[in-house]
Amino acid sequence: MDIGFIGLGSMGHAMASNLLQAGFKLRVWNRSPDKAQALERQGATRVDHPADVAQPGGVVITMVADDAALREVVLGEHGIGQRLGAGAIHLSMSTIAPQTTRELAALHAARETHYVAAPVFGRPDAAAARKLFVLCAGPQQARRAVQPALEAMGQRVFDLGDDPVTANVVKLSGNFMILGVIEALAEAMALGERHGVARQSMVDVLTQSIFPAPIFVNYGAQIAAHAYQPARFKLSLGLKDADLVLAAARQVAVPMPLAQLMQGRLLSATAHGRGDLDWTAAALGVSEDAGLKPGA
Ligand code: NAP
Repeated sequence: MDIGFIGLGSMGHAMASNLLQAGFKLRVWNRSPDKAQALERQGATRVDHPADVAQPGGVVITMVADDAALREVVLGEHGIGQRLGAGAIHLSMSTIAPQTTRELAALHAARETHYVAAPVFGRPDAAAARKLFVLCAGPQQARRAVQPALEAMGQRVFDLGDDPVTANVVKLSGNFMILGVIEALAEAMALGERHGVARQSMVDVLTQSIFPAPIFVNYGAQIAAHAYQPARFKLSLGLKDADLVLAAARQVAVPMPLAQLMQGRLLSATAHGRGDLDWTAAALGVSEDAGLKPGA
């Protein structure tokens, strides 16, 4: 299968590489063209505009940063929107607002193009190791058609039915829960540190007893060591997700006080110039509030 791929950032690059390894032919586009070089050596064809990755009736995957970037590569002057046409599939894998999915799905439908949402859980190392969890929703025939490509990028594809919005809502809920875990870990470690308990001991005991899940183990190790570089998931993107969660909650009148707290935490981190650190750097604010000097 020939596939167009747009967005070769930390996640997209690894995912595109796995598609090539699985034997798919790729036409790739990235805003900063240099990021395509390694993939060209793997056999991908680099093109000059987003629209050029699309073939009428073909499949295009997008893995760009946010809703604005997605709108740009779909609806912008050189976007894929006009090019895809009847029977084509837009496989949209970014973490975006349910509302954006609704709008793009309707615009595509008017041209008989199918929109499948397939956001993922897993960081760039998981993407490289083909260990992503993919949340897939959209028209059934289109879902089936993209299944082999999704399997080439992830360890498991969750089928969430015909309405693409479902996948975005589940994805945002997962990221909201991770934010809660970051805050809980950071607060527990600040409490321990103030009482003379080593941060790593706290994590070791908690993750080897009642909290063995990978999120606690992996994020716990990072927060214990205050190790926030290089960013696996940028704090600026985490703030984008907190904003998306709250916007989705507002739409249906669901109060989410924990999401509000985390939005404030991430905003404060942004104001401290931490937007390019890993989103676990939200924990620095917790330590500072407790009068601790992280890394001192
Ligand atoms: P990233 O490394 O920052 O890459 C972002 C990508 O979007 C780059 O290719 C960037 O192009 C492109 N982009 C940004 N603004 C654009 C615009 N206006 N027009 C066209 N392209 C634009 O981010 P990432 O970590 O790969 O994340 C990509 C998506 O996956 C996001 O929606 C994120 O929330 C989601 N996600 C990330 C993770 C993770 O752990 N990192 C996990 C699951 C889901 P340039 O190269 O030119 O900047």
